Amino acid sequence: MADLLAHRGLRPVINASGTMTALGASRVGPEVAAEVAAILGRFVLIDELQAQASKVIARITGAEAGLVTSSCAAAMTLACAAAVAGDDLAAIEALPDAGGREARVAVQAGHLVNYGAPVGQAVALAGAEVVPLGSAALCEVFHLQAALDRGLAAALYVVSHHTVREGELPMDAFVGLCRERGVPVIVDMASEYDLRGPASLGASAAIWSGHKFLAGPTSGIVAGNRAFLRAMYLQNCGIGRVTKVGKEGILGATAALAVWEGRDHAAERAREAAIIMLWMEALSSLPGITAALHDDWTGNPITRVELQFDPGEAGLHAWELAARLLQGTTAIVLRDDLAEHQRLYLDPCNVTQAEARMVAEAIAATLTAARAAGDGPGPDWSAVKRARGRALVPWLEEPR
Ligand SMILES: *Cc1c(COP(=O)(O)O)cnc(C)c1O
Repeated sequence: MADLLAHRGLRPVINASGTMTALGASRVGPEVAAEVAAILGRFVLIDELQAQASKVIARITGAEAGLVTSSCAAAMTLACAAAVAGDDLAAIEALPDAGGREARVAVQAGHLVNYGAPVGQAVALAGAEVVPLGSAALCEVFHLQAALDRGLAAALYVVSHHTVREGELPMDAFVGLCRERGVPVIVDMASEYDLRGPASLGASAAIWSGHKFLAGPTSGIVAGNRAFLRAMYLQNCGIGRVTKVGKEGILGATAALAVWEGRDHAAERAREAAIIMLWMEALSSLPGITAALHDDWTGNPITRVELQFDPGEAGLHAWELAARLLQGTTAIVLRDDLAEHQRLYLDPCNVTQAEARMVAEAIAATLTAARAAGDGPGPDWSAVKRARGRALVPWLEEPR
């Protein structure tokens, strides 16, 4: 694999951050890869392939039906489109012009987050109108009731470490209130290991990323109500065409689900626990660093190592360590979305034991070198954030 990357002029990556689109999402295992490879050279009736996928998804999620899309984000847009246009082919072709149909989609304000792109944009792409409920850290039943009274095409519920969970409406209350009024609920479960919760509550469509913990190829997996999913599928005659999923995605997502079902999850937890122990032992005694175990934000069965920095003693700010590790001949990626609070996280899900050791050694060596050189810590977060300006995506930029 190192050869393949080198041949293409690419650096190897050690991923201690989790499943990230920007890192190629997942390591797809050999069983799934073999099925994908086998179908790439064949023709297949896509409707039949999706019908078979539906059966597997329905069995594993407890829902009535299933559907594979090109991504979770695509499925969010297709679900909103289905809520607006239903199975009316003329309305489907007219989107994103809703043509006067009910197009309001309610989302708790604290759920309007950015997973790489804004949640609200995935709704708006369908020609729907986002109706924010409550404020960032408080949504009460009356906020949802008022929106239901005015009329809604759908309501969207997001489960993610990005959302503000303080003061939010719990999923069961949210789905229950909407169902009493016959309003379909779409649930974004992108990274959530719980595959059965939303269907048991009666969500019309629950959506997972096929390429995150499920370790499939890039895809979205939808489980829910048969008529609603049929309306989503029909959007392929409309705006769904721009997010087309191919045979490799449909079969790959289905195969990944089946592999997930048969996986020895206890053995996987034990493998991750050994990596966590290695990191705790190696990193707990570094100057200026406090290492602690951290349970997953939304209750997934993942423990991570949290590194809290005292930048003066450690030699670098948290974000500076993350940036330096990314620059090596092997790019080492830590989870840095809370780096502004001087915290980094190490995620064991996508590293081998050998890689975990390399991560620990690189952290220690980089901090030791920074202290010896006295070249850190640099400017504070405010200055860094201002300096970043528009340069957030370092791809084919004009030299400055
Ligand atoms: C990753 C993610 C998405 C987007 O998923 P893709 O399958 O990459 O499109 C949407 N919502 C949440 C909460 C996510 O974490």
